[in-house]
Amino acid sequence: MASNVEQLWKQCLQVFSDNLDKQAYDTWFTPIQPHSYEKNVLTLVVPSHFFAETLEKSYADLLSKTLVRFFGESVRLKYRASIAVGESLTETGLTGPRKSSLEFDSHLSYSYTFDNFIEGECNRVPRTAGLNVASKPGYGAFNPLFIFGKSGVGKTHLANAIGLKTKELHPQKKVPFVSANQFQLQFTDASRNGQINNFINYYQMVDVLIIDDVHEFGQGKKVSTQNALFHIFNHLQKNGKQLIFTCDKKPAELDGLDDRILSRFQWGLTSEMTEPDTATRRAILDILIEKDGTEMPDDVKDYLANNITDNVRSLEGAVISLVAQSTIGGQPITLKLAKSVVGNLVAVKEHQHTVQSIRDLVCDYYKIPIDDLLSSSRKREVVQARQVAMYFAKSMTKDSLATIGNVIGKRNHATVLHACSTVKDLIDTDKLFRLQVEEIERKLKA
Ligand code: ADP
Ligand code: MG
Repeated sequence: MASNVEQLWKQCLQVFSDNLDKQAYDTWFTPIQPHSYEKNVLTLVVPSHFFAETLEKSYADLLSKTLVRFFGESVRLKYRASIAVGESLTETGLTGPRKSSLEFDSHLSYSYTFDNFIEGECNRVPRTAGLNVASKPGYGAFNPLFIFGKSGVGKTHLANAIGLKTKELHPQKKVPFVSANQFQLQFTDASRNGQINNFINYYQMVDVLIIDDVHEFGQGKKVSTQNALFHIFNHLQKNGKQLIFTCDKKPAELDGLDDRILSRFQWGLTSEMTEPDTATRRAILDILIEKDGTEMPDDVKDYLANNITDNVRSLEGAVISLVAQSTIGGQPITLKLAKSVVGNLVAVKEHQHTVQSIRDLVCDYYKIPIDDLLSSSRKREVVQARQVAMYFAKSMTKDSLATIGNVIGKRNHATVLHACSTVKDLIDTDKLFRLQVEEIERKLKA
């Protein structure tokens, strides 16, 4: 029986080597040991479950076709990782070759990348630090990288993107991504099975450890998990391995955590993610809508970006509801529909601004007398203030373009439209201008 598996596997190897370049073949196929073939289940021993994961991800098609050819239609594939962490984690899953990686427990999500992560003031520091860490994990001052911020601001997305980037730049590195809850569960499992040492050994062998939502470690004060955690951190840090954590608070505000762990959290870079500003929300919206494969008029996007200010998750929720409503009702996505849907969803912050109050605040900000704004002056700073006032009046009030134009210097509606598009362009291209606009926005919403 055993020799039979080996025979068949050899034939498979021949196909793999014929179809792959030497390096890929040597890296991903020569380390595999056929273990057994019983009841249509082919068990392969692989160095680690990360290895199996990559194999599944990169070579699913070739694997499945080849196995079917030599082992028959009904073959199923099971991996056994030679790094053992207790029974539950040893076997990385049973995957039918034609189902490829569907049942496979891949820790990193392929939908949260740097490519689809919009950069803004709100995430600039952690994002840059994350890119640094991905290119040189374990080196430098960002170890651990501790990212904190409120729910829905993009922590999980960023941490996952850092993991993916690290794997892309360093395919051999082991980069597990685990939530604090999962970690806790794995630990409980391991201790129930007398496998705590295996559990600790397993995590001590990784190169980059990403733990999401570490505030959860504080809940219930699980001393034993925290002990294990401490030993793992210690070992990894001593060996120049990278640690990345996300959390909903800064370390100093965490409850129920061992002081030794708290102090470890603060050895590297502690970096906050905040709610995105309007321009960033607007860019995120474009990505969300594109991901969804739908389309939305610009005024609807502006409305959503201006009014759903709490976090990105709410923005996502609004897009989903809006698309659903439009599909169910068989009506196009319009500003009117958006207003009715969003009004039900979240407490839309109605800032009680009038065109006048916006105009006055903008003048005050730029230190320009209101009379100048209302005059026919073409001086650059006056024109710009006028345009910014029109821009905010359009997005924050329900007044018509004609009214807005009238209140801000007796201009016509075309001038207001032109002002809005000029301001949008400048936000995209002129950083100083963008910062000013963001500051005005904060003042308007304060
Ligand atoms: P958190 O972990 O902080 O609660 P998530 O990472 O789960 O937040 O983000 C919530 C949603 O918002 C996700 O779908 C995520 O992709 C999206 N998101 C957050 N920030 C950004 C960003 N800067 N660019 C693109 N999408 C983002
Ligand atoms: Mg999260």
